Amino acid sequence: MITSSNPLDPSDVLAELLADSAEDVARKAAEARLVQVEWARNAAARSTALTRAAAAVEQHATELADLAVREVGKPIVEAEGEVARTAAVLRYHAQAALAATGEVLPPADGQGLLLSRRSPRGTVGLITPYNFPLAIPAWKAAPALALGNAVLLKPSPLALACADRLVELLNEHLPAGLLQLVPGGAETGQALLAEVDALSFTGSTAAGRAVAVAAAGASLPVQTENGGHNSAVVLPDADLAATARVVARDVVGYAGQKCTSTRRVLVVGDADAFSEALAAELGALPVGDPARRDVVAGPVITSAAAQHLNAAVLEGGDVLRVPAPDGPAYVAPTLIRDDQGVSRAAREELFGPVVVVQSVADVDAAVALANAGSARLVAAVHTRDLDRALSVSDRLRAGMVRVNAPTTGVDLHAPFGGEGDSGYGPREQGRAADALFSVERTVTVRPSA
Ligand code: NAD
Repeated sequence: MITSSNPLDPSDVLAELLADSAEDVARKAAEARLVQVEWARNAAARSTALTRAAAAVEQHATELADLAVREVGKPIVEAEGEVARTAAVLRYHAQAALAATGEVLPPADGQGLLLSRRSPRGTVGLITPYNFPLAIPAWKAAPALALGNAVLLKPSPLALACADRLVELLNEHLPAGLLQLVPGGAETGQALLAEVDALSFTGSTAAGRAVAVAAAGASLPVQTENGGHNSAVVLPDADLAATARVVARDVVGYAGQKCTSTRRVLVVGDADAFSEALAAELGALPVGDPARRDVVAGPVITSAAAQHLNAAVLEGGDVLRVPAPDGPAYVAPTLIRDDQGVSRAAREELFGPVVVVQSVADVDAAVALANAGSARLVAAVHTRDLDRALSVSDRLRAGMVRVNAPTTGVDLHAPFGGEGDSGYGPREQGRAADALFSVERTVTVRPSA
């Protein structure tokens, strides 16, 4: 049985469903395959259905945002933003359903037609995490459906209610069986791999690696979006107050439970003034009940996760903790001053409101340290000097490079993904999603005589 409950009150159960067995998954895949053939034939019908699905999400915006607050502890203002993003993603891909699917090339011998065209994979599997319980299922399902695929969605057990409701709303406008929820944990996720024509995963690095290995063994097209250990480089000419404000939100927002949260700040030169400014900003951000409109961070996803984080932050460095409400699922925003980079938080993703500030000798050392991390999803540089902004951003090896901008925040129409352990396979979002959710075929047409 899969049970999802409120992080602040485990007796507030939001969803309870039996986990799908391998046979259940096979049955759902067979149903989806039957419907997919007709779905793939009519791009205009796909566009209309996704436009209506976007409207359905907007009509239920308040209900969906409240559900995300209760189920995953997302602060209400962010939850509302996530619902709006979910609808926007559906609208974008409703239009993309009608976009060109290939190109026409000159035939080498000058006769007939040579063209490439994209066709749907068939039935695709999606495995999603708890932290964006509506937007991530949507940003995978929308392009997959727009390109003519059927979809089996296995959400995080911790975000089951949000996924269930989203699927229900979308299904009011989709043919029965085309989009199906697959409740379950890791075992069900592995069973899904055996039944689909392509798989898109988002979650922790360890799980992503297990998925990629299994997919490679079956020659299954796969994309994994994994954890991120994101660095922000602060150059000596940066506006310290403005930078501290941006970084504080990147650390504390949604209790640091974003793959794009800032984990480490590399300050070129003495880091004392920046650490002080950041500590003050961290202390100014309200932590508490996520239903309150002023709150920036609620609890983390479970009290077990809070316990793990509270122990892990003490492993190395000089630890400063900002006061947070009492309660087993709260984690106090934490700044770790660690110039040697030996603390646990300096080396790996701790999925909570924790940041390491490290002083480095020069720009080259900062770039080298940022690039030495294995999970390079996002890297930022803060400076007022355009030449330095350009030269440093050119050298940062991360999936997303940001200048004077937060590490968090994603553009729905731009490629999204990480380098190193942070991602495997093609990028997602925008038109980049075509690479996984469709197959490119080259077609030659010649006159018969
Ligand atoms: P998680 O790895 O625990 O779970 C993610 C999903 O994978 C769940 O649906 C889970 O049931 C499934 N799963 C777990 N093990 C599996 C296996 N062996 N085979 C198949 N499926 C398996 O992750 P989480 O705690 O829900 O999410 C937090 C993590 O996700 C963080 O590391 C975060 O950085 C990462 N994340 C990355 C991105 C990105 O785009 N790079 C976005 C959001 C979250």
